[in-house]
Amino acid sequence: MNLFKPLEHLHDEPAKTSDLKPSEHVRCLIIGSGPAGYTAAIYAARANLKPLLFKGLQPGGQLTTTTDVENFPGYPKGITGPKLMDDLDEQAARFGADIRWGIATAADFSSLPHKVVVDDKLLIEADSVIIATGATARYLGLESEEKFKGSGVSACATCDGFFYRGKDVAVVGGGDTACEEALYLSGMCRKVYLIVRKNFLRASKIMQQRVMNSPNIEILFERNTKDLRGDLVVEEAVLIYRQGEPDETEEIIKIDGFFLAIGHTPNSDIFKPFLETDDTGYIKTIPGTPRTYVQGVFACGDVQDKVYRQAVTAAGSGCQAAMEAERYLSHLASL
Ligand code: FAD
Ligand code: NAP
Repeated sequence: MNLFKPLEHLHDEPAKTSDLKPSEHVRCLIIGSGPAGYTAAIYAARANLKPLLFKGLQPGGQLTTTTDVENFPGYPKGITGPKLMDDLDEQAARFGADIRWGIATAADFSSLPHKVVVDDKLLIEADSVIIATGATARYLGLESEEKFKGSGVSACATCDGFFYRGKDVAVVGGGDTACEEALYLSGMCRKVYLIVRKNFLRASKIMQQRVMNSPNIEILFERNTKDLRGDLVVEEAVLIYRQGEPDETEEIIKIDGFFLAIGHTPNSDIFKPFLETDDTGYIKTIPGTPRTYVQGVFACGDVQDKVYRQAVTAAGSGCQAAMEAERYLSHLASL
């Protein structure tokens, strides 16, 4: 699977929906090809909605950046992320989903039908839209982080922690996620360092207490990560204590795994003028449903979920979104 599609073909000045003539009208448009988007496509295709799905910049989504996925139900021996996503693509195509390359570059949900521009040049009109654009984990931006992604560097302890059983790991961040990841890892790793850039944790008091009461978690306050070193896998992290201060010191910790927990960025920018989002940009849905506050627009997977962020929960909400789209379209047809 080709993971990344170059962006060179996009114009410098993005086209607005009003600049273009509609080239197609579909009943169900799905934006995104992660577990949420593909599951929505499977359900929508089987409901005869003839869904059109655009894969985006990262066909297959976040799981294409990992090796083994061991917690997706149905694979007793695990499966690699890229293979799982290839299978989902094949399964959606088998039921007739129209799966294409393309990035949604603008949207207009102010009137029906909804409008979405793809690659700045194609205007699609859609009776229903399922947004499954996911979220992107934030990284520190170190060169070595890139080098060791999948070989010691991870942004998901629930996903990858198991591979570090009995080993020493570090988690970066001082928020609730970092504390949660550190606590999760402390149950299976020998030692967990929590690397915090300030001299306090931002996390809620209860999470702070839990971390402080864990005998195998050591909080390293006022540390920034300078580099990760190792041969084929991560072996050590180079930290700077009190960076920029007169007593600045370089330190080395020996670790096998390095977990980022410094936040995620939901891929929701182009929808923000029309949909409600929270402070971080997660799309708000009507609680317990994938319905947004705009009729005919649904959001599923990580773009609307800052709590669970798992492949199976994304897939589950993709299913819900397609079922809701089907109900909505039936209702439209009955008017
Ligand atoms: P994503 O997988 O993020 O997919 C988003 C899709 O939207 C992509 O195809 C992208 O190209 C597309 N897109 C974005 N913007 C646009 C646009 N403008 N136009 C068109 N398309 C767009 N979870 C587990 O359950 N088990 C694991 O073992 C596991 N391991 C992980 C390992 C790593 C390294 C990471 C980063 C995550 C891991 N996760 C794991 C979490 C899991 O990958 C996510 O929860 C899941 O992929 C979310 O699915 P999604 O469909 O919501 O979004
Ligand atoms: P967050 O609250 O924004 O915290 C991010 C942490 O990462 C902060 O400590 C921040 O440091 C640090 N950070 C950011 N960039 C960094 C960098 N470049 N280098 C080093 N450190 C960096 O994010 P979050 O923890 O993911 O939480 C997001 C939201 O979800 C929050 O509202 C949180 O309460 C909620 N949440 C709740 C729970 C729960 O209740 N169980 C669990 C998870 C998340 P600074 O503090 O120095 O800025």
